[in-house]
Amino acid sequence: EDRRGVYNFNPGPAALPEEVLRRAQEELPSYGGGGLSVLEMSHRSKAYDEIQARAELGLRRLLGIPDSHRVLFLQGGASLQFAMVPLNFIPEGGAAGYVVTGSWAEKAYQEADKVGCRAVVAASTKEEGYRRIPSWTEVQADAAWAYVHITTNNTIVGSQWQDLRHSLSIPLVADMSSDICSRPVRVEDFHLIYAGAQKNIGPAGVTVVIVREDWLAQAEEIAKARKLPTMLRYAVHAKNDSRYNTPPVFAVYLVALVAEWTLEQGGLTAMEARNREKAALVYGAIDESDGFYQGVIDPPSRSWMNATFRIADAEVKKRFLEEAKEQGFIGLNGHRSVGGIRVSMYNAVPVEACAKLRTFMDDFRRRYR
Ligand code: PLP
Repeated sequence: EDRRGVYNFNPGPAALPEEVLRRAQEELPSYGGGGLSVLEMSHRSKAYDEIQARAELGLRRLLGIPDSHRVLFLQGGASLQFAMVPLNFIPEGGAAGYVVTGSWAEKAYQEADKVGCRAVVAASTKEEGYRRIPSWTEVQADAAWAYVHITTNNTIVGSQWQDLRHSLSIPLVADMSSDICSRPVRVEDFHLIYAGAQKNIGPAGVTVVIVREDWLAQAEEIAKARKLPTMLRYAVHAKNDSRYNTPPVFAVYLVALVAEWTLEQGGLTAMEARNREKAALVYGAIDESDGFYQGVIDPPSRSWMNATFRIADAEVKKRFLEEAKEQGFIGLNGHRSVGGIRVSMYNAVPVEACAKLRTFMDDFRRRYR
């Protein structure tokens, strides 16, 4: 419980570190003593140059982003990336492969088709109710594809790729919206990573794209051939340092603060350890409940970010959510498309919140089973 009196398990927009919010509050009327709020300053000002540079540097340091990759701050959410990725990287007559592991992955796949690009299922666990992540050997990649697209964490169903070491010989693109910065990753293994900021790295309104610079030349050609609108062209955003148009300055500022906070916590190795500890608490409550709480995902594919489970009796489930809320645990309702219960425990959720939730879950089970 932070000073605001709740344990925030919202799936996104999600908990932000309380220290970051307090800092933003302090700096709100006059950033750096300069007499202007970040909300009212020019995106071409020196002060904002520094803010955006801090956000980029923070992410570079956290994720170990190599010089081969550019960092872009865009708008339109991860959902717009579902369209921009194929439009910029699949040439006319080409195709790309999609690994379908959940509803966001499926949306990415469908969107490629909607914008007139050829998307092929490279692997899918839909028939199995998305209960697991496929192994890399199940991913049937065609050497002629422009890329393979994966969703590293499936926010709704609650599964996560645990093994991101691949041996694909074609570019790999990843939607990391719901687990970016939750653990170390080898950015050099990806041609493009994108993430809506609103889970682990900031507020809604900015989308972070990390893309290999040498891939952008191709994107520029493809975008020109398609006569894409300017705003949909990665190369334009890269050339203009994410300021082709007015960027979401305040959201980028918060990304800087969250990245700096995450570094202060010990970076992604420390985040991974904390996230493992949190997940172990919640999954422990499920696994030791003797079937009272039924986990949705096969254990090896479980997400550390979103733990999903069901309670068989609808009345008891309702009661669970009511009692949880009374005790300050909020955001536990499963996604409207799948029901059940979902515990979203992104970076800003402290271990203590998961420990308290575990105690509540154990106690609730004893009283209602
Ligand atoms: N991809 C994943 C994995 C998500 O969890 C979400 C949102 O929750 C999205 C994409 C959509 O993101 P946005 O709302 O930023 O468009």
